Amino acid sequence: MPKRKETKKVTENAAVGSTANKSARMESIIPCTPTRTGKRTNYLSWDEYFMSVAFLSAQRSKDPNSQVGACVVNEDRKIVGIGYNGMPNGCSDDELPWSRNSEDELDTKYPYVCHAEMNAILNKNSVDLKGCCIYVALFPCNECTKLIIQAGIKEVIFYSDKYHSQPTCKASRRLLDLAGVNYRQFRPERTKIVLDFTCIDAPPPKPRLSVSSP
Ligand SMILES: [Zn+2]
Repeated sequence: MPKRKETKKVTENAAVGSTANKSARMESIIPCTPTRTGKRTNYLSWDEYFMSVAFLSAQRSKDPNSQVGACVVNEDRKIVGIGYNGMPNGCSDDELPWSRNSEDELDTKYPYVCHAEMNAILNKNSVDLKGCCIYVALFPCNECTKLIIQAGIKEVIFYSDKYHSQPTCKASRRLLDLAGVNYRQFRPERTKIVLDFTCIDAPPPKPRLSVSSP
């Protein structure tokens, strides 16, 4: 049963859903030496790839102050949900406020906006998210943490932890610890990944080997 065997191998490498085996989780696998086959070596690691998808998704956000994206990945390393922070479906983001501060709380974004994690979870294209991991730009707030736990997600990989000392993040950690959901910060070695649409039109590289004339 080669197919089943391969799936098991991927699961072991990804180690998504296990709280005990932290060392075997998705890790950067950027080879630094030329390969025998001449394949490209500076490709994205799985962590970089999924975190990049989260960050790219965030570029869809209309929030002027905070653009956050999230990407849910299953045990086979397939993306099963993507989201970014935005207003609920059907609620015009031209009608609702985007400000952070106002005398009236109803004139701030907070009562209305859906966080990236919520949207990524609700946008799922699979039956459920049991055993998945979620890549997110910011450590999740306590409300999103509830959703993450209830969805059966088993690992949170976050980039920024800038609200670490705020009560919402403290509550998140408390809940995640109790629920046995692993969480870890991931900071790629490269701080920028540039998308260059024009690169696909670049002329093909010259062949390395020339056929000698008879
Ligand atoms: Zn949240």
